[in-house]
Amino acid sequence: MATIISGKEVSAKVREEVRKECEQLAEMGITPGLAVIIVGDDPASRVYVNNKKKACEEVGFISEEYALPAETTQEELLALISKLNSKPDIDGILCQLPLPAHLDEKAVINAISPTKDVDAFHPSNVGKIMIGDYDFLPCTPAGVMELIHSAGIEVSGKNCVVIGRSNIVGKPMAMLLLHENGTVTICHSRTKNLKEICASADILVAAVGKPKFVKADMVKEGAVVLDVGINRDKNGKLCGDVDFEEVAPKASFITPVPGGVGPMTIAMLMKNTLKAAKLQNQL
Ligand code: NAD
Repeated sequence: MATIISGKEVSAKVREEVRKECEQLAEMGITPGLAVIIVGDDPASRVYVNNKKKACEEVGFISEEYALPAETTQEELLALISKLNSKPDIDGILCQLPLPAHLDEKAVINAISPTKDVDAFHPSNVGKIMIGDYDFLPCTPAGVMELIHSAGIEVSGKNCVVIGRSNIVGKPMAMLLLHENGTVTICHSRTKNLKEICASADILVAAVGKPKFVKADMVKEGAVVLDVGINRDKNGKLCGDVDFEEVAPKASFITPVPGGVGPMTIAMLMKNTLKAAKLQNQL
């Protein structure tokens, strides 16, 4: 039976480290500030934004919420971002995605100053990740790496398979594993022989968005399995992309859903905001 890597525990540790550093910054008169923009009233986005706000308060950051109506125009949203880009007490800016259909997500991402882009979605930060010389890492893949490190798992030389090629998870995930000298394969919806490729993985990361997609026959005996998925099963219960009951007996390490990668994302956002505050203050 696999050892369960607890994102709850690891994320609490990361947030505590951030809180301590924040205390030290306070002695220098610096308080990191995060601005969160939410447009419209998507219930899932509301939950995420509330959780981010709560996490900010816990570690001692200033958190500002900008809740805009669904009818907000592109110009209004860009004007707010421009204002926040030059607001000195704000170190990090994030705009909760997805945006209402009439807004241009790409333009919004591009408008956030790369030095305040704590989601690391701006093309300039994405490029920096590609060359391995970055200030911020995207929160979810960075959280997965933190879980891997916390369990003492060596990536170097391992066969790593990432299922999913999104800009937010799959692609940067593959890059971070590559930076640690993994031999990385990215699988996606057009991949042939998915089962065989996954079954060759020493480290398997699932970021598909399909409930219980990864079955036991896709997993090598002793593999490390990291589940990024957040889905609902047929009964409406929260579940990952991995069929935990089937896969856990075969894996050496596995992350659960909930309580695995999920809590890491916000913890890494706190880490990025702290880093942004240090950068703004030339520390
Ligand atoms: P996405 O929909 O943008 O990407 C899904 C990827 O899966 C695509 O690249 C697609 O090619 C691939 N895919 C789809 N069907 C496939 C198939 N049959 N075989 C192989 N590959 C297939 O999703 P995303 O934004 O990358 O998110 C993936 C999952 O992770 C979702 O469940 C999402 O909710 C979750 N997520 C969790 C966190 C977190 O904080 N834990 C953060 C972001 C996303």
